[in-house]
Amino acid sequence: MDAKALFKLSYGVYLVCSRDNDRINGQIANTLFQITSEPITVAVSINKNNYTHQIIENGKNFSVSILSEETPLTFIGNFGFKSGREINKFEKIKYEDGKTKAPIVRDYSVAILEFKVISKFDMKTHSLFIGEIVDSFLIETKSKPMTYSFYHEIKKGKTQKNAPTYIKEENIKDNSKKEDSMAKYKCEVCGYVYDPSVGDPENGIPPNTPFEELPDSWVCPVCGAGKSEFVKES
Ligand code: FE
Repeated sequence: MDAKALFKLSYGVYLVCSRDNDRINGQIANTLFQITSEPITVAVSINKNNYTHQIIENGKNFSVSILSEETPLTFIGNFGFKSGREINKFEKIKYEDGKTKAPIVRDYSVAILEFKVISKFDMKTHSLFIGEIVDSFLIETKSKPMTYSFYHEIKKGKTQKNAPTYIKEENIKDNSKKEDSMAKYKCEVCGYVYDPSVGDPENGIPPNTPFEELPDSWVCPVCGAGKSEFVKES
């Protein structure tokens, strides 16, 4: 068996939010798909350890923000790599109550879906929640929905050739001293890899900035961990 075969499956990147009375939470999920069209139902797989699992289970509702390619890593990191048990993920996030009272987050979304939970399947580490649609609408934007592979390949490491931050490989490798300072560093908390040839343009770090020269105030754009949480990649 080659587990890498599973990496060939395609997914989107979604923000899944829910409300249970006065508790709200949201998390990033990629494992969501439509099951039927009459009525419209979807399934979403949620880890039982996640706070959002508890809220969906009790509140029996969830909203889905279909995130765009423009979604900043900090936005994803806020929902994806922190726990709602420890922080209020909605502190700096605009939202409104949907028809089920689940929080609806429009920022960086191309469309919103809202569901009531009609069934749940126990899958040991995860639950598969089945939702029947309650509401859906498009957000006016020219952005495309983000795919899971776009998130990994474009947002986390390499840069598109037509992007202003793209740097040709040969421009990096022809300078041996520079190559030495161009080591990649990996965040031990979330797995984000800092690539000096790309920098962190979203946070004002231009391409060709070695990790060592990042300001001490710089934090992981995905999870907010400090520089000390990073280890050099061999
Ligand atoms: Fe991180």
